Amino acid sequence: SVIDTSCIVIFGASGDLTQRMLIPALYHLYVDQKLPKSFAILGVSRSIYSDQAFRSKLIKNIKSDKKINEELLNKFCEHLFYQAINTSDVNDYTLLKKRISRINADRELKNNTLFYLATPPSLYSVIPEHLAAVGLNEETDGWKRLVVEKPFGSDLKSAVSLDESLYRHFQEQQIYRIDHYLGKETVQNMLVLRFANSIFEPLWNGRYIDYVEVTGAEALGVEQRGGYYDGSGAMRDMLQNHLLQVIAMVAMEPPAVINAKSMRDEVVKVLQCLKPLSQDDLENNLVLGQYIQSQVRGKCLPAYREEEGVPNNSRTETYVGLKLFINNWRWDGVPFYLRTGKRLPTRVTEVVIHFKKTPHPVFSADAPENKLIIRIQPDEGIMLGFGLKEPGAGFDAKEVAMDFHYSDLKETELLTAYERLLLDLLKGDATLFARSDAVRACWDFVQPILDYQKKSFPLHGYASGTWGPIEAEKLLNRDNHEWRFPCKNLTDTDY
Ligand code: NAP
Repeated sequence: SVIDTSCIVIFGASGDLTQRMLIPALYHLYVDQKLPKSFAILGVSRSIYSDQAFRSKLIKNIKSDKKINEELLNKFCEHLFYQAINTSDVNDYTLLKKRISRINADRELKNNTLFYLATPPSLYSVIPEHLAAVGLNEETDGWKRLVVEKPFGSDLKSAVSLDESLYRHFQEQQIYRIDHYLGKETVQNMLVLRFANSIFEPLWNGRYIDYVEVTGAEALGVEQRGGYYDGSGAMRDMLQNHLLQVIAMVAMEPPAVINAKSMRDEVVKVLQCLKPLSQDDLENNLVLGQYIQSQVRGKCLPAYREEEGVPNNSRTETYVGLKLFINNWRWDGVPFYLRTGKRLPTRVTEVVIHFKKTPHPVFSADAPENKLIIRIQPDEGIMLGFGLKEPGAGFDAKEVAMDFHYSDLKETELLTAYERLLLDLLKGDATLFARSDAVRACWDFVQPILDYQKKSFPLHGYASGTWGPIEAEKLLNRDNHEWRFPCKNLTDTDY
């Protein structure tokens, strides 16, 4: 659909997200001629910059891009502006309103405004209120959209109260909760794989699927973000949002059509079917871990508790392993195993669908299992593992693979997640944004874990460069299952 001219107002413009993700993504969309001819980007934060100083600061990141085109970059910069305001002071919003009006008039833009909140979450309720105080939420002369970055609350109660404060000034259809996982090509491709091919969908249920693994592994530790991470942990940072969204894509029913309503209706339905975690689940199907000081390839890596900004008695988890079930017709009895953590052997996000073995072992008792591996990152792709006859005498089966890499589609330049989502924001397509009821369903599901963590609970140590605490292995072994080892060739950036 055609994109209207608009002004993109980024709050938190002096911050990391703007510089590292948002501006480079907008630049690439501009180079690909996906943005309208006329548009403006207005950065807003408390730090003082002139337009020119702001442009110079931002292009540093774009310039590290190899395919840079200087001429286009200079042209792109002409669309960038900056306004310093005290975001917490309502009086400054009159200034902001005037600046937006002036930019719109100068550049002959319609009064469409995208307000992107790339600020600390404490401002998510303050900024909308102040925008409303000067009428910048009103859609009388053009659309007004509000983009909220994760985290959407830190537990069920705060998520509900965030919604309440947003709803005071904006309507749900104006609010876009961005989860960049949903912008990833392979996450969306899960829907095409499932619903555009007749060979997978008939098998996509508990009659044929034995179990499902979802891994979101990071090789890095908390780096410079110890202070932030300690208040969040792997549960809130990864599992509650990203991994549960991935589960929703794997497990949802086919939407009647692909539009924001149908898709998100199906997403929320499956999230609401997550089997509530019982005390027994918390004690036996949940593994929480924290990385300890370790030697990896001759390097001494600090324990999580020794990281900058982390208290030395912290009980924040840097690893979560969880077994969950989905209480519905399709998934009855199929375990879903989730794991996410820092300082694991490599950076990888993947889903593995393990199909059941054939009912009768004709060739040998340990015939290879059939599995479908959906790699979300890096090296996006899909691999189907199945058995074929081992050459030579006899009828032994051997596991072989059909392996598709997105990078093989040479002519296709993949949009990054932020590029894709920014484009959707400008089009007003909310399909890939989290709806309030889905966010609540996720918090509802993890709330028992958060409550459990308030009491004394077992926190298992694990060495950096391993796949987490041994208890996580046992979680699967108990069911005669195993985690897949997701990488064959570790590189120097891996541990
Ligand atoms: P950041 O680097 O700390 O930047 C925060 C920005 O907010 C700064 O521009 C800061 O600028 C501004 N700000 C305005 N009022 C503030 C106040 N009262 N206190 C502190 N800062 C204030 O943060 P970020 O990494 O860009 O993250 C922004 C948001 O995106 C966060 O909610 C984060 O959770 C989310 N997010 C970030 C990433 C990422 O990769 N960075 C990924 C996903 C989600 P002034 O000090 O000049 O006002």
